[in-house]
Amino acid sequence: MTDVVIVGAGLIGMLTARELHAAGLRVTLIERGASGRESSWAGGGILSPLYPWRYPDPVSALARWSQQRYPELLAEIHAQSGIDPEYARSGLLILDDGNDADVTAWAKRFDTQLETADAARQCALEPALGMPSARAWWLPEVGQVRNPRFVKSLRTALERQGVQFVEQRAVTGFRQQGERVTGVDTDGGFVAADHTVVAGGAWSGDLLRATGLDLPVVPVRGQMILFRGRPGDVRRIVLDGGRYVIPRRDGRTLVGSTLERVGFDKSTTESALAELSTAAARLIPALGACELEHHWAGLRPGSPTGVPCIARHPGFANLYINAGHYRNGVVMGPASARLLADLLLNRPAILNPAGYATDKIDG
Ligand SMILES: Cc1cc2nc3c(=O)[nH]c(=O)nc-3n(C[C@H](O)[C@H](O)[C@H](O)COP(=O)(O)OP(=O)(O)OC[C@H]3O[C@@H](n4cnc5c(N)ncnc54)[C@H](O)[C@@H]3O)c2cc1C
Repeated sequence: MTDVVIVGAGLIGMLTARELHAAGLRVTLIERGASGRESSWAGGGILSPLYPWRYPDPVSALARWSQQRYPELLAEIHAQSGIDPEYARSGLLILDDGNDADVTAWAKRFDTQLETADAARQCALEPALGMPSARAWWLPEVGQVRNPRFVKSLRTALERQGVQFVEQRAVTGFRQQGERVTGVDTDGGFVAADHTVVAGGAWSGDLLRATGLDLPVVPVRGQMILFRGRPGDVRRIVLDGGRYVIPRRDGRTLVGSTLERVGFDKSTTESALAELSTAAARLIPALGACELEHHWAGLRPGSPTGVPCIARHPGFANLYINAGHYRNGVVMGPASARLLADLLLNRPAILNPAGYATDKIDG
């Protein structure tokens, strides 16, 4: 018997485990594959929503709380695991978009540093930039993390602290007794728990259907490509027309990403490769001469407006949900995990939980 069983060991499940373990609970994560190998591995690791002002305020509230916590959190996990998640404050340069009034009002509301940058300033910030625009937005505080390393370091740190990982084991259902769930059925047997948390990413909607809840979380495929360059060739995260580049410390640069509703299909396509390569050459022409090292796809846990569900299940007193983070699970993760733990432990919550209830996520 464990205090809490968490279904899914992506970033959301693992960060939730960290919070609950820190509060003194015995936590078991059950993962169908290998931990942190789905969306949390595939993503870009930008610690900000793209065009953050376009999202509902509950997304910005989670993102802002996490952004303030991230440097310290990553330093802790690095020290606990010995694996560097490669946090870097590279800033975010947004070349398009922007109704001034909306953008500045959002920055004020969320106490976010924001500057306008003319063409000369854009080129100074990112000398490799292809075509500066007449005016851009510059968010100097935005950081990034190398998410494949982040999930690895988090998994290692949690295991060292005594969190239990059960991998290659799929949860097949929830055992119910009146208004409580007594644990989960898996393809390797029953696991009893006082509390159950669903953090199954894109699979959460399907998982929860068995509990009578129709949570609108569906897979949204995202394809990315990776170029191999030299350290310092590209310095900033640059976003234009929905396409972005993310420079890593070792000279690799990611370019993303597509948004495709094709079910649970993680294959890559030639058309996306061509489209992302074109975007890369437009944003940073020097990438055209770099070796294309990798092309992959991941399944985001898509929710209608990007607001995740962080809540107790309406039908069961001890069943919780932390799912539907769509394009921003990395940046929202720490706050989302803390809020879920606050609810489960009946503590004062870091943010008003009302906006993340099961009936709120479809806008
Ligand atoms: C191309 C791309 C780019 C992205 N870029 C960014 C970015 O720059 N910044 C950002 O903040 N976010 C980004 N994201 C989004 C972010 O990656 C996700 O929101 C986040 O990783 C979701 O985490 P999760 O733990 O909910 O899901 P996942 O990482 O998918 O984890 C869910 C886990 O649950 C497991 N599971 C499912 N069903 C079961 C079952 N029945 N039994 C046991 N285990 C099960 C799965 O195997 C999986 O490991 C990006 C995503 C993609 C695809």
